[in-house]
Amino acid sequence: MKKLKQLNRQFELPFSGLKIGVHQFEFPIDQSFFEHFEALSFLTKGEAIAKVELEKRSTMLLLKTLVKGKVTTPCDRCGDEVTTKINNEFNLIIKFGEGDFEDTDEMIQISALDHKLELLELFYEYVYLSLPLRFTHKKSNCNAEVLQKLEELRVEEIEKEEKTDPRWDVLKNLK
Ligand SMILES: [Zn+2]
Repeated sequence: MKKLKQLNRQFELPFSGLKIGVHQFEFPIDQSFFEHFEALSFLTKGEAIAKVELEKRSTMLLLKTLVKGKVTTPCDRCGDEVTTKINNEFNLIIKFGEGDFEDTDEMIQISALDHKLELLELFYEYVYLSLPLRFTHKKSNCNAEVLQKLEELRVEEIEKEEKTDPRWDVLKNLK
C-alpha cells in the first residue's frame, strides 16, 4: 500500500504558475487510492480517472471534475462479482481569501498564498458520492444457482421461524 505522502503527491495540482484561463488535468485513480480509504474497502477492485477542468481567475479557481471509472464488488443479490460503472460531474468554487469563511460543498476558501491544491480527500468524496446504494447484476446476469439456493434457504428459514415463534407459546398453556 502506498504511503499517504505518496498518495497526496499523486493528487496535487500546482496552480500558482498557471496563466489566467482554462486548463485541463487528468488524475488516474488506481487501486492504492481505493485501498487507502476504509469506507471503500468493500470494493474488490477500483479503477477510475478524475478529469479536471480548472479555470483560473484572479480571485478564484473554478474546478469542474468528471469522475469516471468502474468498481467491482460482490453482487448484493447473488454474491458473485459485479462491475459497476461510475460517471459523475462535480463543481467546486475555490476562492482566495484570508477572512473567516465556512466551507460548503460548493465553495471553499484557500489562502491567496497557497500554490497548490491537494485533491485526495476531495476525490475520495467524489468517488464515494458516485457509488450507487446497491450493487447488483442486471437480474438475468445473476448467478441463478445461488439465487435458487437462497430462495430455498429463505423458505426453510420461514418454516423454522413459524415453529419456534414465541408468540404461539401461549397456546401451549391453553391445553
Ligand atoms: Zn448478481
